Amino acid sequence: MDCLFCKIVNKEIPAQIVFEDERVIAFNDINPQAPHHVLVIPKKHIATTNEISDEDTALVGRMHQAAAEIADSLGFAQDGYRSVLNCNTHGGQTVYHIHLHLLGGKPLGWPPYTEKLKQPL
Ligand code: AMP
Ligand code: ZN
Repeated sequence: MDCLFCKIVNKEIPAQIVFEDERVIAFNDINPQAPHHVLVIPKKHIATTNEISDEDTALVGRMHQAAAEIADSLGFAQDGYRSVLNCNTHGGQTVYHIHLHLLGGKPLGWPPYTEKLKQPL
């Protein structure tokens, strides 16, 4: 399978890994959108959040728990952060192996989309 993030899991391509356990791995985003921008991914290949099965629910919970642990270890858990999972085209997904964006280190704007993408309801 030709998946960029599986290659990072398998250490076939380099990444700045900040956390790893048996089920998840986390590394710095190559194009950071905040002072801290870490991607937390399952080692298991799951293409999109639409493909999360019953057997994956604990794994997805572990992604969130690991994100909180990373935020704590990097010193921004108490100030706060945002965790985001983009799905498919409208969600802005570009890599089809689910990944939790952990963004922190400054106050983040809301809503997260830009003016030019806003559509009337
Ligand atoms: P998304 O648009 O939600 O699919 O997010 C994909 C993210 O992966 C983007 O924020 C990219 O900057 C990031 N990315 C792409 N290639 C790499 C890489 N080789 N190492 C680290 N992050 C990457
Ligand atoms: Zn993959």
